Amino acid sequence: MALKIKVDEDECIGCGECAESAPNTFEVNDDNIVQVKDPGGDEEDTIVEAAKNCPVEAITVTNAAGEQLAP
Ligand code: SF4
Repeated sequence: MALKIKVDEDECIGCGECAESAPNTFEVNDDNIVQVKDPGGDEEDTIVEAAKNCPVEAITVTNAAGEQLAP
């Protein structure tokens, strides 16, 4: 089951790090805000690591059981 991924668009600074780490899951749009293009685009570990590495903790990842995996 896919992870639940929530991006706080007010916090995102558009650095692009998450999209570089998990390019099939995240993309930075023309307004320099990250979007989730496919919550199952990359391996779960890759997505969780990308979320943990967000410098402003803008990405919240929750698993199917409701446990928060990141940040
Ligand atoms: S790593 Fe965080 S701040 Fe950078 S683009 Fe992704 S969500 Fe935005």
